Amino acid sequence: MDHDVIIIGGGAAGLFCAFNAGRRGKSVLVIEHNAEVGRKILISGGGRCNFTNRDVGAENFVSTNPHFAKSALAGYTPQDFLALVKRHRIGFFEKTLGQLFCRESSRQIVEMLLSECGRARVTIRTGCSVKCVSHDGRFMVETSDGSFSAGRLVVACGGLSFAKVGATDLGYRIARQFGHKIVETRPSLVALAAKGQNWPNLAGVSADAVVSTGKHSFRENILFTHRGLSGPAILQISNYWRKDRPVEIDLLPGVDVAAAIKSDRAKRRSLANYLARSLPQRLADHIAASLSVNKPIDQLSNADIELVASSVNAWQVEFDKTEGYDRAEVTLGGVSTDELSSQTMESKRQPGLYFIGEVVDVTGWLGGYNFQWAWSSGFAAAAAL
Ligand SMILES: Cc1cc2nc3c(=O)[nH]c(=O)nc-3n(C[C@H](O)[C@H](O)[C@H](O)COP(=O)(O)OP(=O)(O)OC[C@H]3O[C@@H](n4cnc5c(N)ncnc54)[C@H](O)[C@@H]3O)c2cc1C
Repeated sequence: MDHDVIIIGGGAAGLFCAFNAGRRGKSVLVIEHNAEVGRKILISGGGRCNFTNRDVGAENFVSTNPHFAKSALAGYTPQDFLALVKRHRIGFFEKTLGQLFCRESSRQIVEMLLSECGRARVTIRTGCSVKCVSHDGRFMVETSDGSFSAGRLVVACGGLSFAKVGATDLGYRIARQFGHKIVETRPSLVALAAKGQNWPNLAGVSADAVVSTGKHSFRENILFTHRGLSGPAILQISNYWRKDRPVEIDLLPGVDVAAAIKSDRAKRRSLANYLARSLPQRLADHIAASLSVNKPIDQLSNADIELVASSVNAWQVEFDKTEGYDRAEVTLGGVSTDELSSQTMESKRQPGLYFIGEVVDVTGWLGGYNFQWAWSSGFAAAAAL
């Protein structure tokens, strides 16, 4: 069957691109191998989909080309998406740091996308697996439901994380087939596992912290796990973490621990109890017990105080690995932006071929940025199709 446009992947970017192309009069076919579309949207944001962020700029994304996302983000903004959400009367709220969530359920976002696709007469085939793609004047897509052809092909198959909801490497395979480079992929927005066996038994303890590596810092919660650390600040830093780079954690942001102990030194408290005034008791106990200077604070020398301060304000953690694609919200890396138009997402190698969403080497921070990239890149492609 012939169409103007075939979109592989009925996720966030694919559905968004589909109805925007349909509205422009194109006949659009979306091919999705799951039994239902938008499964990642359904599980996102703890079931409430953090669908965008009030404040989105290219600086909130990681990409080999830090400028690549600018044009698409400017062409379709968070305010544009919010207007769509409001038109569909979906209740939302701002959780923190500009993050916008559905008040009720992520399903409302999927229903909104499906209703827009319906109005734009988009054909959606679920339970349909792509076997191979070829190009001979038109794109031919061989599937479990037969062959389909189109003048334009949009690859919106997402990244590798969460295979249990349908992620595959098809997008990267198609990119390679047409001569595109793939920037090395790895799991991201993910918990990190510490190096070595001696990780403290603090699973479940959380604290507000500033987590830094290289030039990047995030202040949010961290959460101890059995093997390492998780929590929003760790997920954020995982976008920038490299195996050879230690991560520095300030467990008491804004408090100069050395100065505080010196001014309180007259108080005859144990170090653990002193630290527990501002840190969770279990964490304070662990820090005190792990230092050679575990004594009442009035007995600490200046050198001892510096040691305590550095383990609280500048705790150095070496991580060994991430918790893997099964637990990662996104895939870092992907189809190289070198060979894509930043205005239209079209391949510079194969006219008529487009890559949108997470399959591209553009990865957002935690906080609604990845969906905004899916909407913005999908819109840019739809406008050009
Ligand atoms: C647990 C979790 C929570 C998240 N929460 C948020 C959040 O709150 N906010 C946020 O901004 N981001 C969040 N993300 C990230 C966000 O979901 C993705 O970045 C976004 O969905 C990417 O959109 P996409 O359309 O590129 O890919 P996807 O939404 O993954 O869509 C790709 C589609 O292609 C289909 N597909 C794959 N391979 C094939 C194939 N071979 N044949 C046919 N179809 C195929 C898949 O089944 C899927 O439906 C979360 C991710 C996870 C895993």
